[in-house]
Amino acid sequence: MTDRKQLELDKRYMRMAFIWSENSYCKRRQVGAILVKDKMIISDGYNGTPSGFENVCEDEQNVTKPYVLHAEANAITKVARSNNSSDGATLYVTSSPCIECAKLIIQAGIRRVVYADSYRLSDGVELLKKANIELISVDL
Ligand SMILES: [Zn+2]
Repeated sequence: MTDRKQLELDKRYMRMAFIWSENSYCKRRQVGAILVKDKMIISDGYNGTPSGFENVCEDEQNVTKPYVLHAEANAITKVARSNNSSDGATLYVTSSPCIECAKLIIQAGIRRVVYADSYRLSDGVELLKKANIELISVDL
């Protein structure tokens, strides 16, 4: 695939990740993720509380609850429950991954990470670079 075609595809999947982020009931921040392998969407996620918990991300002080899962973690754990494998997949995420998600991305065998907005901390991106994961920042 040519670089231009790949970029068009990356932007298209990123738009889907943004649409998917609208599912998040978190008020402070809404993040969406799409996991793609062999041109097939194999998983998706958005930030939120674990299954069975109330759909509220923030406490009375408007602080994010410690058990809220990030979009990347939800996409990776969702594929873990399926018959698919994230090995060699590309992750599209609307915000650059934090360090906790970066660890999961590395261990899940994800080879490419495409993100749009930069998260306030860059240690996640730095860790992914160290693990030789291809990082692409797209501007929609
Ligand atoms: Zn994270």
